[in-house]
Amino acid sequence: MIHNTRVDASFGKAHSGASSMPTMRLRLDKRRISVSVMDQTADKVFEYCPKCGSPEFTSLRRDLFVCKQCGFHYHINAAAASGVLFYDGAGRVLFTLRAKDPAKGKLGLPGGFIDLGETAEDGLRREIREEIGIEVGAMNYIGSFPNTYPYKGLTYRTLDLFFESKWDAQQVEIDLDEVDGLVWEDPFTLDSDRIAFESMRQALSRWKSMHLR
Ligand SMILES: [Zn+2]
Repeated sequence: MIHNTRVDASFGKAHSGASSMPTMRLRLDKRRISVSVMDQTADKVFEYCPKCGSPEFTSLRRDLFVCKQCGFHYHINAAAASGVLFYDGAGRVLFTLRAKDPAKGKLGLPGGFIDLGETAEDGLRREIREEIGIEVGAMNYIGSFPNTYPYKGLTYRTLDLFFESKWDAQQVEIDLDEVDGLVWEDPFTLDSDRIAFESMRQALSRWKSMHLR
């Protein structure tokens, strides 16, 4: 089911033609946030060889499993993800309020996992289209930072690539299954504990060093 709502880019009021859609919840309060901790690494989760079913499927290193029965090798690779720092003329940065775990309720950056065969840029444009319903203009690369992403009992290793883009959208259409709302924050006074992931904190730190006041 499509569960989204259209709002002005000021994020203050719902679009007038969207009366049947839920009103976007704009949350500026610093409510208490609980983040579930599920640091389950692959060696604690994977029990059997996915090829022959043998229980003799053991991790030689944290990133390599080998089956003693059939010789199958399984490598744990970092999944690629990308995110964007939208900034405006006042030097503010746009954050999403995460609607689901991991880090539900914390501040995120628009973006997500890159699909197989997709470029980081195309994946980012697709994710932004899906999450907040806008087409991104010019983007500049900021840098990449590793991250961990606990999801349904397994902690994934990711490599997150970040870009910056000047915000020029007039209207957004938010997918409320992914994003609870959007907030502009001053990156130089923001409490970094409110940010969902370490890679995002690193990206914001890099961005600030590029835009020193
Ligand atoms: Zn096997």
